[in-house]
Amino acid sequence: MFIDPHIIAELRWKLRKGSVVVVGTNGKTTVNNLLADAMEASGQSVLCNRTGANLDSGIASAMLQGRPADWGVLECDELWLAKVLPDLRSTYVLLLNLFRDQLDRCGEIDRIQDSIVSALQSSPETTLVYNADDPLCAFIASRVKAERDAQIAAGEDVCPFHSVTFGVVESMNLQQNVVADATMCQACSHMFEYDYRQYGQLGAYRCPSCEFSRPGLDFSANNIRFAEGVSFDVMARDRGRSLSRPVALHSKLAGSYMAYNLLAVYTAATLAGCSPESVQKAISAFDPKNGRLQEYCIDGRRTLLNLAKNPTGFNQNLRIVAEGEGPRGVAFFINDQIVDGRDISWIWDIDFEELVSQPGLVVFAGGSRRNDLQVRLKYAGVKAQLVDGIEDVYDALAKLSEKGQLPADAPVSAIANYSALPPVKAKLDQMAEAEIGMTASQAGAANCTPTHTGMVALHEDIEAQLASARTSATIMPGDGDDGISECVESERPLSHADDDSAATPIVIAHVLPDLLNLYGDGGNVRILEQRLRWRGIPVEMRKLHYGDPIGFDDVDLVFLGGGPDREQKLASEELEAVSDEFAEYIKQGGPLLGICGGYQILGKTWLLGDEEVPGLGIVDAETKRPGTSGDRLVDNIALKSPIANAPVVGYENHASRTYLGDGASPFGTVVSRTGSGNNDTEGTKADGILDGNILGTYLHGTLLAKNPEIADWLLGKALERHAKRTGEKAGALTPLDDSEELAANAFMAKKLV
Ligand code: GLN
Repeated sequence: MFIDPHIIAELRWKLRKGSVVVVGTNGKTTVNNLLADAMEASGQSVLCNRTGANLDSGIASAMLQGRPADWGVLECDELWLAKVLPDLRSTYVLLLNLFRDQLDRCGEIDRIQDSIVSALQSSPETTLVYNADDPLCAFIASRVKAERDAQIAAGEDVCPFHSVTFGVVESMNLQQNVVADATMCQACSHMFEYDYRQYGQLGAYRCPSCEFSRPGLDFSANNIRFAEGVSFDVMARDRGRSLSRPVALHSKLAGSYMAYNLLAVYTAATLAGCSPESVQKAISAFDPKNGRLQEYCIDGRRTLLNLAKNPTGFNQNLRIVAEGEGPRGVAFFINDQIVDGRDISWIWDIDFEELVSQPGLVVFAGGSRRNDLQVRLKYAGVKAQLVDGIEDVYDALAKLSEKGQLPADAPVSAIANYSALPPVKAKLDQMAEAEIGMTASQAGAANCTPTHTGMVALHEDIEAQLASARTSATIMPGDGDDGISECVESERPLSHADDDSAATPIVIAHVLPDLLNLYGDGGNVRILEQRLRWRGIPVEMRKLHYGDPIGFDDVDLVFLGGGPDREQKLASEELEAVSDEFAEYIKQGGPLLGICGGYQILGKTWLLGDEEVPGLGIVDAETKRPGTSGDRLVDNIALKSPIANAPVVGYENHASRTYLGDGASPFGTVVSRTGSGNNDTEGTKADGILDGNILGTYLHGTLLAKNPEIADWLLGKALERHAKRTGEKAGALTPLDDSEELAANAFMAKKLV
């Protein structure tokens, strides 16, 4: 590409019939490989970047190396499509979904959408094939159509925009996760209504205010069943003229997202002339050896390895774990390399709380950010053991089995993010090969036997002991000499010492969580809640969603999270309407934590692009935006703050810059080598504002996870407010064991300061 920057265009001749480019946050590699397989099964030759090298370099390499073929099937990173498509000019772009992922690289999802729109505009002959259940994808289609129509109306010689949609026409009846990405109409900034929602923002949505709604489906799935994988029927409509007969598809691969992946494959394969039989043949033969839902047999334990690199993908993986029964191990590996995203706040958007109800789960945390993971799990009520690598997991499980606390064949799930996956996979490949003297490609879970060498004698005892373990939610290995003191703990027992005074709970209000909850900010309220519960102090969590009446009279702590510009604007309008009550709450000593967007709103004004939006005027600060939403201050950061002894560590990601008034004090001064805080003017760098009971800051992270002193500072203020409001004493902030939190803090502080 250095020699010939347009090598992709030069090599286009190799793709005789055309090409399909697969983009989207989740499922690209699986869909790309399955689509290539389906085309091959139908007798067509394919050139494909199968291993997931999806930047321009990966695509150029695949096109250089590959033989001329009927079709190119090429996976492409969302932000690189704008670079690749003008040269590749593919026949189809297959757009799977857009979820928040690597926001340190992408900023806000709007930016990815802008980039995909411009990519499609650079290649007018390309047809967009997209998941219409995802409003973020549908909005891209509607924007390209509007731009293209305008060009045509202006007399420009461009082809009209063509698109093909796919989606699921019935509810899959999935339990909803706490944080979903976009539930707001991007055309008019109103909250969507859903007939049904699958996961994330996917579903049958419509805007109550404008005409934007899920487009009609050209390829639709129904009759979805989740038994031994996923099965469903697909109907194709020929632009409303005729209906085809339904085609049944089945895959042994688990996960509700597989329904969308398979539907995407079927749609693109059909457009490329494949028969339904060839699609099913490819699906049936599909045996990923790339760490995506890959099965192993190691130490007599069935092992499933999968990639998960964002909250939506992770939550879907937790559902797969939840489908298992009985005692078993689950290991999470999270790295923070550039390819993963340096910011790991997103682990707070994963519903790890669901693991608490899983009987006999033994949980491990690995990867370079294992300390953060351990803290996250702790606040979910799950005790996780730190591991250096996947081999430690088998050692720990073997010890439990030796003691009769876990079946010798208890299965293992390993879930890893992008750069954490290859080392886990390499180790599993190696262990599988060593164990059965086969190559990794031969080794599979089919070889798993329930017992393994050295464990046979113990097996009967274990059975007896496990009868009780199976019925309890907790495996308690007892003395903890192997480092595991307890595995899954339910909520810590409440101390009832303060029962007399505990009549009225401390009320924590998470204001507009559906709008202001970016980069895991919602984790802060979870942390505040748990730190009260652990002390036996009664607490009520109040989520005031968009549309709910917002009141502060009986509230003891207010939390406002960060948000993308659009959501932040809507939130600010909602708060503006109750600004007098809000000001009164502050005047009466009510504590407030505002993060990023939620901090900007508190000042006199803030900017949305060029538009100046009035703030609540609660603090003496102004927020300006020198550049675009793409010109962001994004980095790890550490502060020295007057309200903490330890450095306050976090992650900032904002386009706007905040300037404090003369008399205002910051939350802290920046002591890290990286990070800017409030703004990027020269001189001493400072972040946030500390004004009486108000704490505003740019630190995500989740802020309170690694900074328990700040959490307790806020809780102290909440207790004071509660005492004043009710005349009762709710309890005292007795010391907690913060060793995990402080270890996570020290790990980052050492890196940054
Ligand atoms: N949208 C605001 C900005 O970019 C706030 C972002 C945030 O809350 N992280 O400045």
